Amino acid sequence: MLLCGALFVAAPAWAQSASPEFDSCLNGLRAPARAAGVQDASFSRFTQGLVPDMTVIDRLNFQPEFRTAIWDYMAGLVDDERVAQGKALLAQHGQTLARVSERFGVDPETVVAVWGVESNFGQSFGKSPLVQSLGTLSCFGRRQNYFRGEFFAALRILQAGHIAPERFNGSWAGAFGHTQFMPSTFERLAVDFDGDGRADLMDSTADALASTANFLQKAGWQSGQPWGFEVKLPAGFSVAGEGRRSKRAMGEWTARGVVRVDGSPLPVSGNAGLLTPAGAQGPAFLVLRNFDALYSYNAAESYGLAIAHLSDRLRGDGPFATPWPTDDPGLSRAERRELQTLLIQRGHDIGEVDGMLGEKSRTAIRAEQERLGQEASGRAGQKLLRALRGN
Ligand code: CA
Repeated sequence: MLLCGALFVAAPAWAQSASPEFDSCLNGLRAPARAAGVQDASFSRFTQGLVPDMTVIDRLNFQPEFRTAIWDYMAGLVDDERVAQGKALLAQHGQTLARVSERFGVDPETVVAVWGVESNFGQSFGKSPLVQSLGTLSCFGRRQNYFRGEFFAALRILQAGHIAPERFNGSWAGAFGHTQFMPSTFERLAVDFDGDGRADLMDSTADALASTANFLQKAGWQSGQPWGFEVKLPAGFSVAGEGRRSKRAMGEWTARGVVRVDGSPLPVSGNAGLLTPAGAQGPAFLVLRNFDALYSYNAAESYGLAIAHLSDRLRGDGPFATPWPTDDPGLSRAERRELQTLLIQRGHDIGEVDGMLGEKSRTAIRAEQERLGQEASGRAGQKLLRALRGN
C-alpha cells in the first residue's frame, strides 16, 4: 500500500505525459481490432502500458529539404562495399538461394540485391517498436485509417507467434525485418521456408530470402528474363513522353537507332520502356516487365534501378557505361564515412561516423562549403571530399 501511495504521489514524468487522448483512442480500437481478428486478450497483452511516440508524427510530416539527386542515391546504394558483401552472401547462402530460385523462379542475384538495398543484408532493420509507432500513427496525424490496418496486422502477426514481441522493431512507418515488409505485406507474402512453423523475417535468412522471391513472383516476375539493360541513344534522340510505362516493341527501338551500350543490337522480341532518370544526357535503359516487379517493391523508379544495377554488379558487370550528367559525382558509403571523419577533425559535431549524412552532417557540410567558397547547399559530392582531403 505504502509503495502504491508513493508511486501515486511521485508519478514519473513519462506516466503523467501519457496521453489520455491516446488511451481513449486505443480503447476505441479494441472493437475494430476484434473484428479484424485480434482477440481481446492479445490486444490487451501487446498494448499494455503503451504510450504514444509523437516523434513518428514529426517523421510523417517531415518535408525533405531537397530532393536527393539520382547519382547521390545510386552512389550510396550500389557501391563496391555492397557489391563485395553481396557476392560473399551469394556464396554463403548458395544452397538456400538455389532452392528459393527453383521454387519461385527468381534468380539469386536479384533476391540478394533486394536484400542489400532493403536492409543492407539484414544489418539495418530500424529500431522503432512497431506496436508503439503503428499505434501512434493509428491515433494521430494523417492516414490514420491506413495505419490502423497495419496496426491490426502487426497485432495479428504477434498473436500468431511469427515474431517475438521484443524483436518486433522496424522503421518509424512500420516496415520491418530483412525484407522491410509492412505488416499487411507480411501477411500476404511472408514464407516459412525453413519449416519451423513461423515466417520469421527478423531472424531467419531462409524465410527472408524466400519471402522476397515470393513477393517478386506475385508481382509478375518472368523467370529467366532480364530486368532490362543500359542502352545508347542516337544523337538528338527525343525522350519526351517515354518512360517505364510506355512500352514499345524492341523492333521499334531498333528502328529508332537504339543499341546496347557495347554497340550490339537489341533482342529481336519483347517490349520495353525507355528510362532516362537524369534526362537524355545521362545513362539510358530499356526496362522490361521484370523492372515493374522491382518497382512494385517500393513504388520508386530510382529504387528499382538501384536493385537492378546491384543485381548486375553481383553478376560481375561493371558500373554504367554512360556517366551521370554532373561534374560533381556522388559519394560511396566509404567516402561518406571519410567525409564525416574529416568533418570531425575540423571540429564539427556530426554525431557518429555512420556513412549517413543526416541533419548534423549537413550543417557541418554547409559550414565547410562556405569556408571553401563553394555553394552552401549541404549536399556533399566528390568536390567537397577532395577539397577537405587537401586541407
Ligand atoms: Ca521459419
